[in-house]
Amino acid sequence: PVVLGIETSCDETGIGIVRGHTMLANAIASSVEQHARFGGVVPEVASRAHLEAMTPTVERALERAGLRLADVDAIAVTAGPGLSGALLVGVAAAKAYSLGLGVPLYGVNHLAAHVAVDQLEHGALPKPCIAMLVSGGHSSLLLVPDVAREVISLGSTVDDAAGEAFDKVARVLGLPFPGGPHIDRVARDGSGAAIAFPRGKYDDGTLDFSFSGLKTAVARWVEAREKAGESIHVPDVAASFQEAVVDVLTRKALRACAEHGVQDLLIGGGVAANSRLRAMAQERCDAAGVRLRVPSPVLCTDNGAMVAALGSDLVAAGVAPSRPDIPADSSMPVTTVNV
Ligand code: ATP
Ligand code: MG
Ligand code: FE
Repeated sequence: PVVLGIETSCDETGIGIVRGHTMLANAIASSVEQHARFGGVVPEVASRAHLEAMTPTVERALERAGLRLADVDAIAVTAGPGLSGALLVGVAAAKAYSLGLGVPLYGVNHLAAHVAVDQLEHGALPKPCIAMLVSGGHSSLLLVPDVAREVISLGSTVDDAAGEAFDKVARVLGLPFPGGPHIDRVARDGSGAAIAFPRGKYDDGTLDFSFSGLKTAVARWVEAREKAGESIHVPDVAASFQEAVVDVLTRKALRACAEHGVQDLLIGGGVAANSRLRAMAQERCDAAGVRLRVPSPVLCTDNGAMVAALGSDLVAAGVAPSRPDIPADSSMPVTTVNV
């Protein structure tokens, strides 16, 4: 079956089309430039941009896939979590396509979709696997027996998400929004060992994370140098901050694998695009005998193919479609796969 996926939880209007685990199209329209001068996503601006981009992006995806609307067998849509108004635009559009085409509707969890997308490149997920989801709004370690049916939370951040920490530290360093990719780029010219920033909850025996102490430590460090009239070497600060985040993330991910006797680790979400995280995770997985899967960077950040991928799994698993009146749920828990 051909599944069309609609993603509008934040500032990307993503339309993906998949058949099984084969990606046929992944069209994205982003309103990120409209938000940049505000230093963060403005919900009303995002909703309006989704509305304007919806039809053209669906058309672009169909064209790339070489399909017509009549070829679509099911619609999947991000029902949460995310910005309420932004989600509503996607959910309303999905209902309209589902009703108009007479095909089933699947409301899915954006976070489970960040996990499911990896199958478009690397085949079916091992059952079970450990998934580390690191994105703009979430940082969680998950035990995933079957992404279409059950996701179990093992731990999560007690304060900031990893991506949020990247974005806030980037702002302190005067880098543009969203800062994650800029820190990644700038850090290549610096040393991760230059400054010893704190690693929150490093050996606390839990699978939780904490990044707000690190963020504050970086801000204080920069402030102190500026007050003293000293110049700072931005690449060293970026690299040392990044090293601290990546060290904690990979340590806890491997701890989760060991505690649960699982040899397969998947990393997903926007921060999984980070080059240092990908490299350190590979090194530590190799040393521990754990198989690592990370989607290509374009599939780590928000897109429609991830939603279609999870929808496709739900269809294949024979999971009942959603009711036609599903709500958007801005705070959907990570353990709710579909609604
Ligand atoms: P959520 O998935 O929690 O709802 P979101 O959808 O807004 O949040 P994603 O698109 O999954 O977030 O991820 C965006 C986040 O990823 C941003 O915080 C961004 O800075 C970060 N990010 C993207 N690329 C990189 C990178 N190369 N290095 C570090 N962080 C990155
Ligand atoms: Mg975005
Ligand atoms: Fe996301």
